[in-house]
Amino acid sequence: ATPLAIMVGTGRGAQLGVLVKGPEALEDTREVTTIVLDKTGTVTEGRMTLVSASAAGADQVEADALLDAVASVEARSEHPIAQAIAAARAGRLPVKGFRALAGSGVVATVRGVGADGANAEVTVGSRRLFDDVPDEIEDVARAAEREGRTAVLAGRSPVAVGGVGTGALAVRPPLVAEAVLVVSDVVKPTSREAVSAFRELGLDVVLLTGDNARAAQAVADEVGIERVIAEVLPADKAEVVRSLQAEGARVAMVGDGINDAPALAQADLGLAVGTGTDVAREASDLTIVSGDLRAAADAIALSRRTLGTIR
Ligand code: ADP
Ligand code: MG
Repeated sequence: ATPLAIMVGTGRGAQLGVLVKGPEALEDTREVTTIVLDKTGTVTEGRMTLVSASAAGADQVEADALLDAVASVEARSEHPIAQAIAAARAGRLPVKGFRALAGSGVVATVRGVGADGANAEVTVGSRRLFDDVPDEIEDVARAAEREGRTAVLAGRSPVAVGGVGTGALAVRPPLVAEAVLVVSDVVKPTSREAVSAFRELGLDVVLLTGDNARAAQAVADEVGIERVIAEVLPADKAEVVRSLQAEGARVAMVGDGINDAPALAQADLGLAVGTGTDVAREASDLTIVSGDLRAAADAIALSRRTLGTIR
């Protein structure tokens, strides 16, 4: 590209609401064939609210104790799901040994919520963490997911005390889901139009998410995306981009989260949502300042025109 093309391109980019990191970014933008969109915070607003929380077969006192335990564990997490739960319910139970399980949930020991007032390990997150999901919980989860909502499950297990040779639990009992919490997020009002614009540019559009396949499909249907790759762990998002590239695609990836950063870096063109994390911005070539995905389509159209005509 000529310096003129770059100047024109970047200046216009800023007008469109796109920050361009370097001159090569424009070249890469022009050649994109496939655009991969993260779901939460990219296609959707990423601000979740708690819709319902219910415990299976428990009396009110027991249900409240379990949901308090869930809120107490989620108070330690910065995930949008955790923020939705924390905003709706203050968890004040003492928690220790908190661990975030990337792309699947959280776990911690909560005082006094186990059998006979013992401490229990409380797990909150996606189905993959649970050995058994009773029908009454599964039904609530599925109904929510069909509407594009995210259902997270919660369950307790005994705390393994001591270590090897101390008579501690040798075999963990199966983790059973005892509660289901439903959170909802809204699709950005501009996302559907942005997807049409990508299509008009001849791009293949892919939705990539760690969320459940049913929930992802509902969002894809709402905005007109045909290809959905769901239930992908954060560590595997970059691998998905790599396999699309191996099929011959020139991939643009749009994302907002820390968990999107490796995929943004792997893509031929990484686009960060400006309202997202610093980590995503650092891994990207372009930043969509407002988070309106139509700006990404405009940037691709502009780079094609600019580099196509001036050279
Ligand atoms: P996304 O790709 O939509 O940003 P993540 O990779 O962050 O999704 O999370 C994938 C799934 O893991 C969520 O849909 C949820 O089921 C589960 N999960 C992750 N973090 C938490 C948490 N703090 N609490 C409950 N569930 C969680
Ligand atoms: Mg996201």
